[in-house]
Amino acid sequence: MTRVFNFSAGPAALPESVLRQAAAEMLDWHGSGMSVMEMSHRGKEFIAIHAEAEALLRELLAIPANYKVLFMQGGAIGENAIVPMNMLRGKTSIDFIDTGEWSKKSIKEAKKYAKVRIAASAEATGYDRVPPRSDWTLDPDAAYVHVCSNETIGGVEYHFTPEVGGVPLVADMSSDILSRPVDVAQYDLIYGGAQKNIGPAGLTIVIVREDLIGQALPITPSAFDYKQVADNDSMYNTPPTYAIYIAGLVFNWIKAQGGLSAMAERNRAKAALLYDYLDQSKFFKSPVQRDCRSLMNVPFKLRDEALDAAFLEGAEARGMLQLKGHRSVGGMRASIYNAMPVEGVKALVAYMQEFEAANA
Ligand SMILES: *Cc1c(COP(=O)(O)O)cnc(C)c1O
Repeated sequence: MTRVFNFSAGPAALPESVLRQAAAEMLDWHGSGMSVMEMSHRGKEFIAIHAEAEALLRELLAIPANYKVLFMQGGAIGENAIVPMNMLRGKTSIDFIDTGEWSKKSIKEAKKYAKVRIAASAEATGYDRVPPRSDWTLDPDAAYVHVCSNETIGGVEYHFTPEVGGVPLVADMSSDILSRPVDVAQYDLIYGGAQKNIGPAGLTIVIVREDLIGQALPITPSAFDYKQVADNDSMYNTPPTYAIYIAGLVFNWIKAQGGLSAMAERNRAKAALLYDYLDQSKFFKSPVQRDCRSLMNVPFKLRDEALDAAFLEGAEARGMLQLKGHRSVGGMRASIYNAMPVEGVKALVAYMQEFEAANA
């Protein structure tokens, strides 16, 4: 068996030990004689799996007791509609910080439900940064302020938690959740799809301050009404049971690695290997401003894009896959989530050095 270094942006690499445990438990989970996939979501076995996953997530992120943790479906793109339906609470306008492709998707969808204001945008500089907080013009009457904490495509990440006054702060954390400690109390709602840094696609995590729910628009589908979901312990409808089980294994793995501060330290070290190399290279370059660079998704360009195909081919031959950048931005992108070992990043940098020496 050969495992590659998988630099996919999502669905993304999972820790090998988690996959091994899932394989070992596939046919018979803990003597139940069943796979987790075959269990009733209302049976005692699955209820225990679900409760443990939630407890571990609460522990890892130190989620305050007045926040609900919801395990939903529909992905972050689904949440682009579900969040406004639940969070307008009688208001009419939402403030967005536009930092790139995922912000734009959130903005477009929210327009179906509300008036949208762009309180700050990095469009003018080609989405190479997070607009500094001092440039934001916030509306105190907005239902909430929406940020994307890590732009998975552009590789732009917040390295500060924005202070937004009395207006609720909502964050799409799909691609950097659990990569570092977060002070959840500074946010009012955090959401994200699981398939970047948590587990299989199909599970969406929502962490929401409980006093903000219960005022969903009447058109909100019941399965997407946070209050309904919360009151039913995320079992209003059948939850994505197997994805929740794998997420629980990943949470346990993170805890065993030393929790989120340890993850953050490892992630900083991995990203530094790549960015330090990019910054001294005359052959490759990073398109993102230094203080906004993502520790999870590292886009880079070859100065001569005619060599892109040869670069990717050589990477693949060396067991490094999925390095092609998103079609909207081109170039390369190395996604180095929690599960990417430092050896994978070292192998990539060594290959970049070799490629540069051979082609510069
Ligand atoms: C991947 C991603 C999404 C889309 O998630 P889906 O699960 O496909 O709906 C949205 N926002 C960000 C920041 C992402 O990385």
